[in-house]
Amino acid sequence: MLIPDLDAGCSLAETVRPADVRTWRATHPDGLVVAYVNCSAAVKAEADYCCTSGNAVAVVRALPPDVPVLFVPDFFLGSHVRRITGRALDVWMGECHVHAALTPADVEARRREYPDAEFLVHPECGCVTSTMYYASADGDVAAGRTHIVSTEQMTERARTSPARRFVVATETGVLHRLRRENPDKQFHALAESAECRFMKLITLEKLRDCLRDLKPEVVVPPDVAVRARRAIDRMLAIG
Ligand code: SF4
Repeated sequence: MLIPDLDAGCSLAETVRPADVRTWRATHPDGLVVAYVNCSAAVKAEADYCCTSGNAVAVVRALPPDVPVLFVPDFFLGSHVRRITGRALDVWMGECHVHAALTPADVEARRREYPDAEFLVHPECGCVTSTMYYASADGDVAAGRTHIVSTEQMTERARTSPARRFVVATETGVLHRLRRENPDKQFHALAESAECRFMKLITLEKLRDCLRDLKPEVVVPPDVAVRARRAIDRMLAIG
């Protein structure tokens, strides 16, 4: 695998190590581990299932009942899945510094500023619990206009929604794509400060050099790759 900048890490992925998963397994020998895709290959290798933000609910619903389940590494996404499925998940206390910094106060401020806007909120965000309330509250000004959605679901919703204005709660990079694909609609970041310094390390120039020089290279040990792929294949089998 090639990566344009070896420093382009992820604060969320750093919050859980393979040994943490093994420690949980030692006390839950019949348990299952679900790993959100933003984690290392070594953590995926310790997991039973991988998941994305778009299919996490479906993956957890497909698990056999009455076995303990550990969800890693994102606390906000795991808590969201626990609420939706009603399943008593053990949720790892990891978070992404960008998404966790998006707070209920940011949501309130944007609701006042753009009362006509539809809210598109990624489930990794620190504001997801309060926006769940707006998404379901009868008679609330934003009832029916607040959606907890993965990045792909965000682009789909922006395309198909009759709304003309959106507030987007996730890393601000997704705004470029939303604006390009929907030039007749308005998109506002929940917070302009929600920029990931790791993602911004990947520039077009570095991508060009990486493809030209075929480096820097990341090598995953074959045994780790085989076990990590097993968790991904199980996710894909669920759909
Ligand atoms: S925004 Fe950055 S730190 Fe957060 S999950 Fe994405 S890559 Fe990781």
